[in-house]
This record gives sequence, C-alpha cells and structure tokens, in this order.
Amino acid sequence: MVDAAECCVKVMCRFRPLNESEINRGDKYIPKFKGEDTVVISGKPYIFDRVLPPNTTQEQVYDTCAKQIVKGYVLDGYNGTIFAYGQTSSGKTHTMEGQLHNSQLKGIIPRIAQDIFDHIYSMDENLEFHIKVSYFEIYLDKIRDLLDVSKTNLAVHEDKNRVPFVKGCTERFVSSPEDVMDVIDEGKSNRHVAVTNMNEHSSRSHSIFLINIKQENVETEKKLSGKLYLVSKTGAEGSVLDEAKNINKSLSALGNVISALAEGTKTHVPYRDSKMTRILQDSLGGNCRTTIVICCSPSVFNEAETKSTLMFGQR
Ligand code: ADP
Repeated sequence: MVDAAECCVKVMCRFRPLNESEINRGDKYIPKFKGEDTVVISGKPYIFDRVLPPNTTQEQVYDTCAKQIVKGYVLDGYNGTIFAYGQTSSGKTHTMEGQLHNSQLKGIIPRIAQDIFDHIYSMDENLEFHIKVSYFEIYLDKIRDLLDVSKTNLAVHEDKNRVPFVKGCTERFVSSPEDVMDVIDEGKSNRHVAVTNMNEHSSRSHSIFLINIKQENVETEKKLSGKLYLVSKTGAEGSVLDEAKNINKSLSALGNVISALAEGTKTHVPYRDSKMTRILQDSLGGNCRTTIVICCSPSVFNEAETKSTLMFGQR
C-alpha cells in the first residue's frame, strides 16, 4: 500500500574507495562517517537518509537504495525513479550497472532485473507479464536512442492520459535478466561508437534506462502498469564548477523539481524546464518513489566537486 504521508524522495550518499592512481599520488582521504546518516568533510556535516561508506557492498547498496522501490511499488503498478548523481568517475556507473556479469559486483540494474523475473516466476499463472525496456541518453538537451543510433533527436510527447513519453524510442521486450543485460551491453557499445571524445561526452550526457512492467490477470482482466526510470546524471565539474552561476544553471531544472517535491510544494513543480524533467514527470512525486544516490570521490583532489555534489543532495 502507498502511504501518502511517507516522503517520496530519499537521498542516499555513496563514497567510493580511493582508486589506485589516487593512492599512488598519496591523496588524502577526506570523508569522516558518523552514524548511518552523516558524512563530515573539512568539519562540515552533511546529512542524508543514509550514507554508504566505501566498504559498502553492491548488494547492500541495492537493498538500501532500490529493493523497496521494485518490490513495493513498481511491481504493484506504481512508478519510480532511481537516480545516480555525481562527477565523472565518482561511481555512478558502478552503482547503477556495476560489472553486469559478476554476481557480487553487479549493480542496481542487473539486480532489479533479477528481482523482477524472480517475482514473475513466483506468481500464480493467471498473471501475464509484459516487460519492455528502452535505453537512451540526453546530450545537450537532445534525446538519442542508444538502441538505434539513427535516432539522434527524439521528441517528448504526451499520450492521451497526458503521460509524457519519448516518441519513437526503441522498446525491447525482455523475458529474462540476461535479456536485460544484453540490451545494456548493446546500448553501451552504441554509445561508444557514435562518440569521438568519450570523456567530454560522458561528463555532459545523462543516460536513462527505462523498465516498463505491464501485468494482466487473465481471469479477472485486472491490469497494472508500473514504470521505473534508472538515471545517471553527471554534476558540474572542472571549469564549469569555477562559476557559481553555471553550477546553478546546470543543476537547476532537476534540482528545482526535486526540492519542490521534497518540500511537498503542491502548487508549482517546474517539470517543463528540461527534457529530463519532462520525461520523468509521472515518475517523480505523487504516488511515485524516488531515490537519489549521490556518488562521491573520497580524495582531497576532488574536494570542490564533492562539496558541490553534497550540496545538491542536501537540497
Ligand atoms: P562514473 O560512472 O561516475 O563516471 P564509474 O562508476 O565508472 O564512475 O567509476 C570510476 C571507477 O571507479 C571505475 O573503474 C569503477 O569500477 C570504480 N569504482 C567506482 N565505485 C566503486 C566502488 N564503490 N568500489 C570499487 N570501485 C569503484
């Protein structure tokens, strides 16, 4: 059951370990963890729903950040969004995808796929499921289909129920967790092929993996439909970070929507300010569940970016 009083936005904060080059360079490790919800950077505490220190396993991350949304909501016909946010190399891909074919190191998306199909196989046979996935990215406010590279500028439309969707985006039916992994692999290789400077590209593009679950009870004809958006978004970094007004610009559309929702603002949630927030409109707020996973580097070298990321999470 959905409890309307329960907050619909949860913010988690994950720190990755120092990587090899940071260790070799002798970088200072800056976060101090207090209790389950606080991280302190240069004496300043930042508080989240949960803080996940570097030794947190992929399974623990899934259990805290995603499991509830899948089992409690999306499989019951509600919508949800799980969002990884942080600078390049802060651990977003590791968190969302991880090593797809490694049972311990696989991330949130392959675990979701597993849980969805485990659930389906455990249900009675009167239920018929149709699972579709799409994979696209938003780059310079253009939507590019990662499952069909010829589609480079897709538009956001609304269906007859005023639900926004990406018109013409490829949808793949999947019938096993392996099918889902194949789609991710395909999308990732398309992403690399079409891009000349991958570093610059990944620091400006946002990738979105959509899982659509329709179920019908063939006896009662009762239908349910739930949708889960899995989003990876890079925050301001490097020269962009130097200018406060640029930070605000790059964070604003999504940050404004999420803070309006978190504050429980009823009147105006500014969904229309970007393609990303338009698409997510019916999967943020209302009866939906949203988890934001703020991803951070623990190195002093990234302190400015980390603080900016943490500030975004605090909003
Ligand atoms: P992003 O997607 O934010 O650019 P990645 O997820 O690709 O960053 O992470 C950068 C590197 O750090 C990758 O090699 C990844 O495997 C590693 N990494 C990230 N998070 C962790 C973690 N929690 N534990 C171990 N390695 C990690």
